[in-house]
Amino acid sequence: MSLSVKHSASPLNIFTMMTNLARAHDAYNLSQGLPDYPVAAALGAYLTEAVEQGFNQYAPMQGLTSLREAIAIDLNKRYQTKTVAADGVVVTPGATYGIYASLTAIIDKGDEVIYFEPAFDCYRPAIEITGGVPVRITLEASADFRIDWNQVKDRITLKTKAILINTPHNPTGYVWAQFDWDQLADVIGDKDIYVIADEVYDHIVFDDRQHLPGFLQPRLRHKLISIYSFGKAFHITGWKVGYCVAAPDIVAAFKSIHQYLTFSVNTPAQHAIAQYLQHYDVAEAAATLQHKRDLLIGGLQSSRFQPLTTSAGTYFQLYDYSAISDRDDVSFAKWMTAEHQVATIPLSAFYQSERSDKIVRLCFAKKDDVLLAAAAQLSKV
Ligand code: PMP
Repeated sequence: MSLSVKHSASPLNIFTMMTNLARAHDAYNLSQGLPDYPVAAALGAYLTEAVEQGFNQYAPMQGLTSLREAIAIDLNKRYQTKTVAADGVVVTPGATYGIYASLTAIIDKGDEVIYFEPAFDCYRPAIEITGGVPVRITLEASADFRIDWNQVKDRITLKTKAILINTPHNPTGYVWAQFDWDQLADVIGDKDIYVIADEVYDHIVFDDRQHLPGFLQPRLRHKLISIYSFGKAFHITGWKVGYCVAAPDIVAAFKSIHQYLTFSVNTPAQHAIAQYLQHYDVAEAAATLQHKRDLLIGGLQSSRFQPLTTSAGTYFQLYDYSAISDRDDVSFAKWMTAEHQVATIPLSAFYQSERSDKIVRLCFAKKDDVLLAAAAQLSKV
């Protein structure tokens, strides 16, 4: 007897491993990207109310109409457009699922999918599980993780079926400008290549930047699916509710997969989010996280950790530790957790290729006192 092995990634991902290690050493956990502060009281109350009012059975397959309408209104308001319609939205059990189901809807066995490393850990396994061939393009810290678009052009073949991108980017905090979207549209041209745009941090951009959603890109919108997560926007990663936005034919293909993968998404959570979306403070997530980013960077100013480019968005800031240690980043992160009680994520976890960078990712979606205490610990190293 043998069990199927459908992907080449590690059976235990680094996020689980570092969080377990943080627990074992009672360390400040700046590793996994999950907030440690409470949910907004109104959102929590809506959830309780939804359960009490009896919204506890299967929701419609595409998502509650009230939620899809609230999402369309929210996106049209935030991105000053009128193009998003409730029909173009599918509610998903989180963005990881959205990426997987999109790939399933787009990819046939042997199709190539281009993605960029450093990458969120589910991309490669999701491409492999769905029968695609991952085509990796490596971005270097020494080049500020900039994409070499000539290289992208060179890696496109007749088998290229999709390009998977992420903005705002985990772990670098890079936020795509119109230039990046233009380059992507140029390399794709009129080829039959889809774009899966992981935009889970779309609310969380700093210093008056604007996130540019893929579904508004005029040359790409008909071949693009944008993936979102309420986990990040509302600091509720454990609710696992997100959505995608796409053109009608892509929505239809996505739904044909979705109805057999999960059918529908947590009903009371959908009710709660639909209500909360109508009056939440749009700027809250970005303002909260920008304050936390600055608190962390300020707290580490006199340490031997060197920030890479200041994070422009997401929950994360990269730090170079080469002034402290020659250890590889995985053993450095483990040593830091055990000896200095601060858990981080080694940058190499976002690469499949061997790395020698001396860089770790710190998550600043944490209570202010945790960030200050962790920074004080790190400043002693
Ligand atoms: N994409 C990126 C870039 C992420 O950082 C995360 C969460 N860390 C996800 C997708 C997954 O989101 P969800 O929890 O909604 O599945």
